[in-house]
Amino acid sequence: MENVLGLRCIQCGKELAPEPGVYTCPACGSKAGIMDVIYDYSAINKITSREKLSQSKDYSIFRYLLFLPIHPETPRPHLRVGWSPLYKPPGLGKQLGMSNLYIKDDGQNPTASLKDRASIIAVVKAVEEKAPTVSCSSTGNAASSLAGSAAAMGLKSVIFVPSRAPQGKVAQLLIFGAKVISVQGSYEDTFRLSAEAIERFGWYNRNAAINPYLVEGKKTVALEIAEQFHWEVPDWVVLSVGDGCTIAGVWKGFKDLYQAGWIERLPKIVGVQSTGCCPLVDAFLENRPWQPAEENTLADSIAVGVPRNPDKALRAVCESGGTMIAVPDEEILEAMRELGRTSGIFGEPAGVTGMAGLKALVKQGVIGADEKVVAIVTGNGLKDVKNAIAAVGEPIKVEPSLDELMGKL
Ligand SMILES: *Cc1c(COP(=O)(O)O)cnc(C)c1O
Ligand SMILES: [Zn+2]
Repeated sequence: MENVLGLRCIQCGKELAPEPGVYTCPACGSKAGIMDVIYDYSAINKITSREKLSQSKDYSIFRYLLFLPIHPETPRPHLRVGWSPLYKPPGLGKQLGMSNLYIKDDGQNPTASLKDRASIIAVVKAVEEKAPTVSCSSTGNAASSLAGSAAAMGLKSVIFVPSRAPQGKVAQLLIFGAKVISVQGSYEDTFRLSAEAIERFGWYNRNAAINPYLVEGKKTVALEIAEQFHWEVPDWVVLSVGDGCTIAGVWKGFKDLYQAGWIERLPKIVGVQSTGCCPLVDAFLENRPWQPAEENTLADSIAVGVPRNPDKALRAVCESGGTMIAVPDEEILEAMRELGRTSGIFGEPAGVTGMAGLKALVKQGVIGADEKVVAIVTGNGLKDVKNAIAAVGEPIKVEPSLDELMGKL
């Protein structure tokens, strides 16, 4: 990996070589010692450029191979991950009173969430490290995406999910042939058990916060936004936050491009949580260390009371000059309805939480009506049909008779 210089601890700055099995800083420990992958931007710029990239026919995250911490020769799964569409839905813009609103629909990945960007890197790294089995704990999407990528790569997967994981996601796991462990407890309990088992059995660890390579996969959503805008960076990028890895990845992506000299400025990043579970929003708004929170939200993918990547997440928002906001679950369901009805895009609750927060910030005047904004839809609504029905209600029931239909329309 001539493009990668090494790993750097975000806590103490210590640098390490990117060796197999090294995920966290030994000096700071596995909680605080989260690492960043550092790149040799001049080496990258010797091999590629924005112009060369525009000739690439690879419409997947691997078009950015030089910005990824993998060996170019390692076999890669056939699944097409990334290069999701960036839309400008006119009806949605009108509804929110915004003239420059874009939606990046990451529900269009192979297993229908942004997590595929990380999971595909996980299985490539697992092959590089000769690990036959990959494992993670997840609120749902990291699990289903890891199982899908593992199946495509011919690896085994062992997945830990909390008992409340929606059925659509559990169905995906079983279809992809994962060994599924449904932990009768919270996400926190699930994470802890998976960490113990991973250590005991020596599986490849996809738990995103402590695995620095996965944030690198997630950052490709930012690389794509920049390229899809012809390297004109938006004013704001808005998305939901659970563990904090996705928002950290988005910021890392823009920073890499900036440091490589490919973009002239950086966007402001907005992180959104549900008021039912918002430890990071509270920490940000009250300018204090985060504290564990209850997990009282129907947005299961961001129901994370004990976030695993809080420092990177808060740093992303602060460094960018962005902000954070929490919205009640009713506003998340309303965002689901509005997005669906104005633009034909179906997001799961956590998938549209960013949009719900955006709406609130526009109302408050924090984000201007004419600013260029991207809201990332992080997951598809078919994963969680129960909450979708809760958002919109039941269909009109009629006997097969036109007369009866007339009376009900
Ligand atoms: C995982 C997930 C998030 C949040 O990502 P974190 O890295 O946990 O902050 C948001 N939306 C969806 C659909 C997700 O699956
Ligand atoms: Zn350290």
